[in-house]
Amino acid sequence: MSTPDAFTAISILQNVFGYDEFRDAQLDIINTLTRGDDALVLMPTGGGKSLCYQIPAMLRDGVGIVVSPLIALMRDQVDALNQLGVRAAFLNSSLRHEEIVSVETKLINRKLDLLYIAPERLLHARSLDLLQRCQIALFAIDEAHCVSQWGHDFRPEYQQLSMLHEQFPEVPRIAVTATADQRTRNEIVSQLDLHDAHQYVSSFDRPNIHYSIIDGTGLRDQMWRFLQREHPKDAGIVYCLSRKKVDDTAQWLSAKGRTALPYHAGLENSVRTEHQRRFLREDGVIIVATIAFGMGIDKPDVRFVAHLNMPKSIEAYYQETGRAGRDGERANAWMAYSLQDIILLRQMASQSDGSEDYKRISSQKLEAMLGMCELSTCRRQTLLAYFGQALNKPCGKCDNCVEPPETWDATVAVQKALSCVYRTEQRFGATYVVDILLGKADARIKNNGHEKLSTFGIGTDLSNAQWRNVFRQLVARRLLVVDADGYGALHLSKQCSAIFKGQESVWLRRYAGPTKTKTRGTSRPVASLIDLSERDTELYEALRDLRRTLADKQGVPPFVIFHDKSLQQMAKKRPANKNELSEINGVGAKKLEQYADKFLTIIKQNQKIAS
Ligand code: ADP
Ligand code: ZN
Repeated sequence: MSTPDAFTAISILQNVFGYDEFRDAQLDIINTLTRGDDALVLMPTGGGKSLCYQIPAMLRDGVGIVVSPLIALMRDQVDALNQLGVRAAFLNSSLRHEEIVSVETKLINRKLDLLYIAPERLLHARSLDLLQRCQIALFAIDEAHCVSQWGHDFRPEYQQLSMLHEQFPEVPRIAVTATADQRTRNEIVSQLDLHDAHQYVSSFDRPNIHYSIIDGTGLRDQMWRFLQREHPKDAGIVYCLSRKKVDDTAQWLSAKGRTALPYHAGLENSVRTEHQRRFLREDGVIIVATIAFGMGIDKPDVRFVAHLNMPKSIEAYYQETGRAGRDGERANAWMAYSLQDIILLRQMASQSDGSEDYKRISSQKLEAMLGMCELSTCRRQTLLAYFGQALNKPCGKCDNCVEPPETWDATVAVQKALSCVYRTEQRFGATYVVDILLGKADARIKNNGHEKLSTFGIGTDLSNAQWRNVFRQLVARRLLVVDADGYGALHLSKQCSAIFKGQESVWLRRYAGPTKTKTRGTSRPVASLIDLSERDTELYEALRDLRRTLADKQGVPPFVIFHDKSLQQMAKKRPANKNELSEINGVGAKKLEQYADKFLTIIKQNQKIAS
């Protein structure tokens, strides 16, 4: 049944990229472009967008021009293609004059299949002249959501890209993005004049990402247990809200023996670049970052994203967690949040400099995120529903699915908490009120005469952590409202009177406590996300060593040589010759030619040692 194009497309997929089959809409998209039509592709991170323009660029006459704002990544992308034997190059401001001339010469002489270029450079008259003299296969507009004025990645030059269609009306265009919402999609269509483009919208589910969200105290220690249990050697990202917390956490992780590097806007540019480079090049590096670290981190084997603070919106949470597991292998999105986060983020949302509209939208987004945290049902269903996509049944993989949270009738405890807030005249924050409930007669409480209150010591049936958990849920539900002045005093809301009168009962999520996370979320063995025996793991490590040596020699990131997945399959299947090696996922003709001997040797040696 396959058309000639499909046949050629599949043969490129198998011979050049070393993959067996196309995913979802990839082939349709490739056919659309190869035919000369336009396409708009919305696919989640890791979905496989790049092949959708790389393969048609190779099938059509001429060179495919890829417009990308991610200058820092172009070199890696081009290195990865060159490793596959694809003729690719890039043009951006990081190149020296001779390098630019060399790329331009290749372009004119039809020696390129793909050219990556930054938008500001593309729009130069010089570049446009150059392109007029070439045969162009297609234009790919990567990260197309950068046209959107409303998004945080807005790039003014992107709005001028509609001129590509005016100057090169015959050349098909493809715009790709991982940003899901309808408003952004409409903006891309109108700004880039893609009204006739075929639209491909994938599911935004990332089935290989396992979501879990915890609350409580000692969050950093809980994160440490999570890391030790599930990612003792893996690369990952830890997000914190403030620069100071980033620095502290990176130091803390380093002192515990992990390679952890800070990344935020307060660091020198050169330091940031170096930390990003090490994250990409070395194995098992943890980046601790503010949101300044992110867009276009194209590392496929990020095995976890941990949040030590709550993000500001579900969009941000989805985007940040989405940096895990681009290679489709299992990855964890772990998050911890506290009462402090809720108070601080609500203050930030209500006090920002923006217009009233902006504040209102920011607050709504924050509340949606908070709702997701406090949820007792499937996280993935809620996440997808937020983006207008339905998941028919609970995912079975998130924390709430694996271990449904218990709820309890907390009416009496809540009455105690609320009346304690009332008795202290709504002038104090949660820490103080909890101390009174627990009957802690410290100097401050005595000074205020609060050890004489009727509510003093009436809460000893719960622990400090349990009380804080109760207060967090009350604040999250706005039964208690926090002063915006920064002192965090709690006020009773109107809804409280029905609870006082016993007309309304309150059910809360039961506090799980740090011990619960030990059993939570996974039944996988310790130490690795992959299902390898001890013997296979030994070989896997040896293959990784070889990969690192080869990568260092060429100055490229290890994953450009082979992905983890390919090495895992090698360790498991132990191919004995080139033919068997070519069956491994990600081993195309060029890599076989270049690396087969070295990898087969290691596999053979390991066989001997073991036997
Ligand atoms: P995106 O740009 O959508 O985030 P990429 O294009 O970088 O994703 O692809 C993510 C990963 O999936 C890459 O490692 C890519 O090589 C791999 N991939 C893409 N398509 C396929 C496929 N059909 N079979 C196997 N792996 C694929
Ligand atoms: Zn679930």
